[in-house]
Amino acid sequence: MNIIEFKDVNKIYPNGTRALQDVTFSVEPGEFVFVIGESGAGKSTIVKLLTCEERPSQGLVILDGQDVSELPDKYVPFLRRKVGMIFQDFRLIASRTVAENVAYAMEVTGASPKEIKRRVPLVLSVVGLKNKADVFPAQLSGGEGQRVGIARALVNNPRLILADEPTGNLDPVNGEAIMALLERINRNGTTIIACTHDQNLVNKMQKRVLQLEKGELSRDEYCGNYYCLSADDDIMPIEEKVEYNYNSEADETAYVSNENEDDLQFNHKLDLLSNEKGNLLDSLKQDSESRRTRTSSFNRTKEMKEILRRIDERVQQREALRKQNEIKKAQKNRDNPENNIMEPEEL
Ligand code: ADP
Repeated sequence: MNIIEFKDVNKIYPNGTRALQDVTFSVEPGEFVFVIGESGAGKSTIVKLLTCEERPSQGLVILDGQDVSELPDKYVPFLRRKVGMIFQDFRLIASRTVAENVAYAMEVTGASPKEIKRRVPLVLSVVGLKNKADVFPAQLSGGEGQRVGIARALVNNPRLILADEPTGNLDPVNGEAIMALLERINRNGTTIIACTHDQNLVNKMQKRVLQLEKGELSRDEYCGNYYCLSADDDIMPIEEKVEYNYNSEADETAYVSNENEDDLQFNHKLDLLSNEKGNLLDSLKQDSESRRTRTSSFNRTKEMKEILRRIDERVQQREALRKQNEIKKAQKNRDNPENNIMEPEEL
């Protein structure tokens, strides 16, 4: 079953502006789709129709099998729990810490304090911000701010994430890191719809592209590029595909030197651990699946406990590796005669 279906959707705003015209497309669960187009093409309107912030003037908008075109307002909050939102300007609450911002998204769904306490560190770990849990938004870089936005979108285990210009306020490096993180989340099964006019990112990612022109769907292409006009007005792709290898836990990896064999091995081991821990998303997904399919809260609690136990174990393993490496280094320094030459003032 499709997770999203637009059937002949038209949207005319009350002032008469036609934002969408006869738009029809569907998205399967697990897809990563870019919605591209110039400013005013209708990208945000598509997002707003999916979150029921706006209603179609004509046509059907179906989300996860449910026709939301005329969904009564009182059901909208329930619908929004299925969807994680990421905004261009992050929309973090300035007076709350990173952890509190993420927790808030769970609080509004009525989650228990115990569940919040468990899940917030998990998702902060997934986006590589566990160490910033107690920091306020003003103390974050742009890239970090958006990673909080992603953690907040992820915390309720949504099947769908809608990102409206997620890299619009970021420099290219941070923009790529955010896209790579979204791609990683998508690889774990979450459907992602990202509206953007960032040509380079679209070309690099080679995902499905829905292009809007003046409210009409002009292109629906898998592994698409964002096209530009060359000097002689031929349409051509801008860049070749680039593989990302973003490690969301990189900021937890304190040791980064690769000067010698020991260090290389050590970093390799750390990478393996990071990858394992990065796969927390798998655990979150499994947790989400079990939520849907099981009714026993006892089993869910047991599973969450097991996830947390495994995280603790991995953190301890990392610490042990770090310590081992420090000891090895210290021993090497001691064994090296050059390091044993005493400075004149020490004599
Ligand atoms: P995009 O996200 O691609 O920039 P939008 O979906 O925001 O495009 O807007 C599509 C068209 O609808 C634009 O012409 C815009 O001016 C118009 N529009 C958007 N929101 C409203 C609104 N609330 N009232 C009137 N016109 C609107």
